[in-house]
Amino acid sequence: MFDKILIANRGEIALRVIRAAREMGVRTVAVHSTADADAMHVRMADESVCIGPPSSTDSYLSVPAIIAACEITGAQAIHPGYGFLSENAAFVQILEDHGITFIGPTAEHIRIMGDKITAKETMRNLGVPCVPGSDGGVPDAATARRVAGEIGYPVIVKATAGGGGRGMKLAKSEAEIERAFQTARTEAKAAFGNDEVYIEKYLGAPRHIEIQVFGDGKGGAVHLGERDCSLQRRHQKVFEEAPGPTIDAETRARIGKVCADAVASINYAGAGTIEFLYENGEFYFIEMNTRLQVEHPVTEAIFGVDLVREQIRVAEGLPMSFTQDDLVVNGHAIEIRINAEKLPNFSPCPGKITQYHVPGGLGVRMDSALYDGYSIPPYYDSLIGKLIVHGRDRAEALSRLQRALGELIVDGVDTTVPLFHALLQEPDIIAGNYNIHWLERWLEENL
Ligand code: ADP
Repeated sequence: MFDKILIANRGEIALRVIRAAREMGVRTVAVHSTADADAMHVRMADESVCIGPPSSTDSYLSVPAIIAACEITGAQAIHPGYGFLSENAAFVQILEDHGITFIGPTAEHIRIMGDKITAKETMRNLGVPCVPGSDGGVPDAATARRVAGEIGYPVIVKATAGGGGRGMKLAKSEAEIERAFQTARTEAKAAFGNDEVYIEKYLGAPRHIEIQVFGDGKGGAVHLGERDCSLQRRHQKVFEEAPGPTIDAETRARIGKVCADAVASINYAGAGTIEFLYENGEFYFIEMNTRLQVEHPVTEAIFGVDLVREQIRVAEGLPMSFTQDDLVVNGHAIEIRINAEKLPNFSPCPGKITQYHVPGGLGVRMDSALYDGYSIPPYYDSLIGKLIVHGRDRAEALSRLQRALGELIVDGVDTTVPLFHALLQEPDIIAGNYNIHWLERWLEENL
């Protein structure tokens, strides 16, 4: 058993991990930048270590500082949360070399899935259906033109090192391919230091459906159904639900088994998410995330499991605490992401929280690191809270969300809460009738 783990993250996800560890009797070490000295994760952990100045590069992304914090405190393992170093294969390799346990998959699995071209190739070989596209990287504009012609327009040019919805460019016709190719490459180079791009068929009206998988690292794996994350702005999720409103039990079991079998066959360890676009009853793999997702609580709600506890158990070498047969869908859950952003431009809005009131009652969970008087620093992402509701069915979850939103008070900064008040009035949202383009169109018309 671990006596002590270090959490290489901040904000709500750091609290999420501290809570799971505390329930397991595992002590926790928080790390923080100088800008986060008063942050909730520092207050809640058993110990804390300041690892650098505000800039993430010099603190939450500083591998030497984090390893030193482990050595000073005697932490035996690191939970990376999401973002920051969670999908950094070089970091995981260094931990492996130092005898510190990484609570997550191996460096090798992170490396394979972190490169989207290799990830697609691996998944295709494991029998997972993929979006039609270039088989591998596209080196120059002439090849891009030829490959796109073969796939058929529209196509999307994507960065193989991509993430966070960046480095993707649409080409509707041959006239646009050269520009899309060059722009995607330039953006990929700037954002990820790697200008390799590939081309995929652009799907016109798909839903984003992702499958939660969990492996024991020894050839055993299960799936925990799907999440529908189609409500997106700039390819970033804002509202997620489980189960997916368009996925029936038979479809869930079928695609879930394909995914669980795929990760089992590579001895995958811990939590992972296999992302698909879903159109006309067909699944098309786009990428795999080798970490806990922001939206994992909706899965926890409908299956009644603690995914972080499970991650820690498997990292300790223990077996998973559930089998596929134990995992039965119960009701419906919805998560909304509350950002400190000013509408209509979604510009970041850091500042001091003057009043904070958390909703409660049956089926309501608020994951947030806010408190009265807290000052949101300007250096990090703008997610300040996740409101998750669980009901017996989708209708109950929706009315519970509306009720809980009415109780929530976050004063002092602008937030995306008004967006959700408006969305919950929309007949399409109430009916579950939306795809990955719905929100962009709605924002153009309504904000
Ligand atoms: P990232 O790693 O940057 O999140 P993804 O490959 O997961 O990139 O894609 C993010 C989102 O971009 C998807 O959820 C979808 O909305 C859109 N997208 C990606 N690939 C395609 C495609 N081939 N056709 C249409 N939309 C796509």
